[in-house]
Amino acid sequence: MPYLLVVRHSLFQAINPIKTISILAIVLALLLNSVTIKAADNSAESKRTAQGWPHNHKVAISLSYDDALNSQLDHAIPALNKRNFKASFYVVPLSNAFQARLTEWRTIAAQGHELGNHSLFHACRSDKPNRNWVKAHNALEKKPMQAMLNEIKVANTLLQAIDGQTQRTFTPPCFDQQAQDGNYINVIKDEFIAIKSLEDKKFAALIVPNGIKATDIIEFIEQQPASIKLVNVLFHGIGGEHLSVTQQTHEALLDHLHANQDKYWVDTYRNIMLKKQKGH
Ligand SMILES: [Zn+2]
Repeated sequence: MPYLLVVRHSLFQAINPIKTISILAIVLALLLNSVTIKAADNSAESKRTAQGWPHNHKVAISLSYDDALNSQLDHAIPALNKRNFKASFYVVPLSNAFQARLTEWRTIAAQGHELGNHSLFHACRSDKPNRNWVKAHNALEKKPMQAMLNEIKVANTLLQAIDGQTQRTFTPPCFDQQAQDGNYINVIKDEFIAIKSLEDKKFAALIVPNGIKATDIIEFIEQQPASIKLVNVLFHGIGGEHLSVTQQTHEALLDHLHANQDKYWVDTYRNIMLKKQKGH
């Protein structure tokens, strides 16, 4: 029987939030954009040999933080560093918090956290429900695939200038893929070692916590079938800003992962996917 899980789809404005939108509208938007994803099934095919993570961990956990937000530097980084966890930050170079705090982003990269590509301008489809925050000039349905490739290559170069890394991963803004003339993932995929959210659904599951408790996230992780070897926990705001969870929720999740380090391998998405590609 298929194992079904509900993931709140990431719909938000990465930069220059429209502050005139009422709280009610935001709540409604988030509710309306819940999607159901068939994460995995229990077929014989999915019951393959254990992935073979380091130290026989059962599941790799990729904690990621999208959109380069102040609350991530202020709240997520101290909580991660306190527990010596490494995570991935899918930054938008146009964001105020990226431009104003560039030295801090460089510092966290030097600490071992990952700066991931999330494009330069965070183009999303404007023709989906509750997307009136997407600016006309940045609507994905009006951008050719080549424009997305150019943007994403420049973002890679910019990030390399900051952290020196030549291997990078990508998270598609809003999880959208269809540009003006086709699926742009097809033309950008060779720029990356992995693309978050597009893994084999028998191998990986993904949750976008928004206003939920640590126990909800822990339950999501622990209820995955044995075939799932990677759980992506994709955050945005921590203790503020958009699609947020409280600092207490974030810290409680980290405490749980820290207390169960024999079971969970917490590392950057880059390190996890490099390990997977090496075949163990
Ligand atoms: Zn984003």
